Amino acid sequence: MPIPLLLPLAVGASALVGWVGWRWWRTGEVSMPAPLAFVPRADKDPSKLEPAFRAKVEALLGALRARGHRPVIAEAWRSQARQDALYAQGRTRPGVIVTWTTDSEHTRGRAVDLIDGRPHPTRSGEIVGWGSWTGSPGDDVAKAMADDFYEDVGELAEDVGLVWGGTWSNPDKAHVQARSEVTT
Ligand SMILES: [Zn+2]
Repeated sequence: MPIPLLLPLAVGASALVGWVGWRWWRTGEVSMPAPLAFVPRADKDPSKLEPAFRAKVEALLGALRARGHRPVIAEAWRSQARQDALYAQGRTRPGVIVTWTTDSEHTRGRAVDLIDGRPHPTRSGEIVGWGSWTGSPGDDVAKAMADDFYEDVGELAEDVGLVWGGTWSNPDKAHVQARSEVTT
């Protein structure tokens, strides 16, 4: 191959490798060989939840709306593949630790993660979400809004017979799950 053709090819190939590496590092959403496996996206579809649990979640959402909240399901049922990939994050793959278990009630359709869907006070087009925004003037207000939201999630989840992750030793304020079945 003539030399003038090799240079653009080499530049193109290194740009591609660089882009894939950057995407993988930032989002974990580029397919990579195991154990750096692809992370499937969060599934928000409530119809994939266990029916009895879903009914309680609907009751919780209604009770939250009655208090002026705008709850949003950030994640519902989760595949075991996604759970395993999330568990690997911060351990055998880049990123921060986001879960403590490979055995989650999400994989049985018995857990949801709820976020605050009210508009962020200063970030146009964004919602309060987890209240974890930092760095802009309204973020402290958003954090206070989310704290208030999650306080009510905790109280009302208990009322409808669900378990809130906010009281755990590794608190997970967004997480609400079914009570474990009592076996006798
Ligand atoms: Zn969860």
